[in-house]
Amino acid sequence: MKKTTNGRIQNEKLRALGIKVNLVLCFTVFVIVMLAIFWVVQIGLLDVFYERTRLGEFDTISDGIADSVGTDNLETVCYDYAVRYDVCIRVFGCSNGEVSDEEASIEATSNCLIHHIPRDTLSKYYLKAAENGGKWLKEMELLPESTGTGSDGRGSGRSRRTTPKKIALSVNVINDNDGIDHVIFINAEFSPLYSTVHTLNIQFRWVYVVLVIAAAVLAYLFSVRISSPIVRMNEGAAKLAAGDYSVRFNEEGYRETRELAATLNYAADEISRTDVLRKELIANVSHDLRTPLTLIEGYSEIMRDIPGERTPENVQNIIDETRRLSDLVSDMLDLSRTQAGSRAQMPVEFDLTEAVGEVMQRYSALTAHEGYDIRFTAERSVNVRADRTMMLQVIYNLVNNAVNYVGEDKAVIVSETVSDGKVRITVTDHGDGIPPEKLPDIWDRYYKVDRVHQRATVGTGLGLSIVRAILQQHGASFGVESRVGTGSSFWFELDEIPGNDPE
Ligand code: ADP
Repeated sequence: MKKTTNGRIQNEKLRALGIKVNLVLCFTVFVIVMLAIFWVVQIGLLDVFYERTRLGEFDTISDGIADSVGTDNLETVCYDYAVRYDVCIRVFGCSNGEVSDEEASIEATSNCLIHHIPRDTLSKYYLKAAENGGKWLKEMELLPESTGTGSDGRGSGRSRRTTPKKIALSVNVINDNDGIDHVIFINAEFSPLYSTVHTLNIQFRWVYVVLVIAAAVLAYLFSVRISSPIVRMNEGAAKLAAGDYSVRFNEEGYRETRELAATLNYAADEISRTDVLRKELIANVSHDLRTPLTLIEGYSEIMRDIPGERTPENVQNIIDETRRLSDLVSDMLDLSRTQAGSRAQMPVEFDLTEAVGEVMQRYSALTAHEGYDIRFTAERSVNVRADRTMMLQVIYNLVNNAVNYVGEDKAVIVSETVSDGKVRITVTDHGDGIPPEKLPDIWDRYYKVDRVHQRATVGTGLGLSIVRAILQQHGASFGVESRVGTGSSFWFELDEIPGNDPE
């Protein structure tokens, strides 16, 4: 059995990754993915974003200039834009499909194309823009040594020395109120980002390595902090499973692991307590079983061997002892069935007063012949809804205990009182009482205050646990008041079902 469990745990271990590996993997993958996204956005697409932004500026500039065309401050406006956006600007009036009067000219960059190409070419560009709905954009690459010479060719040398410079030329045609065309040429240079990207790439490699290592180390430290208490708890739990109930779980680490350790400590205490009680039960039950069996055997042998001993009293003794054996066995069965939930309750409406009276009948012999004073007082008949057989058992167990632990006055008082729709049954005796520190334990299975077990007639230690299991199943409240030397009062309450009130 043990071997199978261990084998299963081993298999689980192989199949599932531990916290440490999981956390290190997750953290590392997370950092790698984040860095990859960061690289693509910040470095990989840097060129694209830069070009888009730069081209977007053309619209801003030409719109600004268009408003000033025909005014005296056109030159100033062009100058402002040229300086702010680092571009060259030329504005012409047009006539007969050609650029004619130059209205403004600002040369602010070194690689200016529009100030170094012939007017014919400018006129050509103007016509292209006019045909194109008033806007035309041309992008070119210039080799550094051939500054000033337009080249549409791409794919020239990629070495740093011969890295081509990118130039963009925007041509915007506007029409003034007199129907005359004006053309705005804007020339912008795109600073090559190669070296920036290269520097960022080198930096990024270092950042990448450092961050991945840092993530793995952090995840490892983090996982050690989480998993160590769990590993220790697992070792403790294995000891617990092997029967070492003295094991203690350290309440350390995070809140959840502390709570788990506290719960395991509680479980270990409970298992240990139940184990002690179970061992006591085996001792007590074997004693309880052996006593009547020895008596039955003894009486039977006497009756077999000595004809004169075959008396009704001896037969009654055998019957009594057999009954006690049967009570013991049925107590144990009842408790295990009630606690396992296999003893389903069948609630019916019945007269509780009458049911208590029925239990009291069983004690009439004790009252009549053995000097017991077993009384039942009730204000009136009360109906309740519950499992009748179970309730009879509750009352019987309480009265039986009161009789077993009765005081010198041999008085057992059972009372039924009703208030606020609740009916309370109280069973009182004037016996030795129960010490306050033992009171919480008496409802536990196999618990007996009197461990020495002097009286064979006294029960199995199961009676009150059956009472508790039944009353809890019914959702009823119950309790005990007891004082050493004065006696005990056990009580429980059920909801009254109205209907039997004489008023
Ligand atoms: P038992 O079969 O031993 O009576 P119970 O579960 O009914 O087992 O009771 C548990 C323990 O509670 C008893 O062993 C006894 O020590 C104590 N006890 C129960 N009822 C009384 C009572 N009326 N007076 C004193 N002690 C009681």
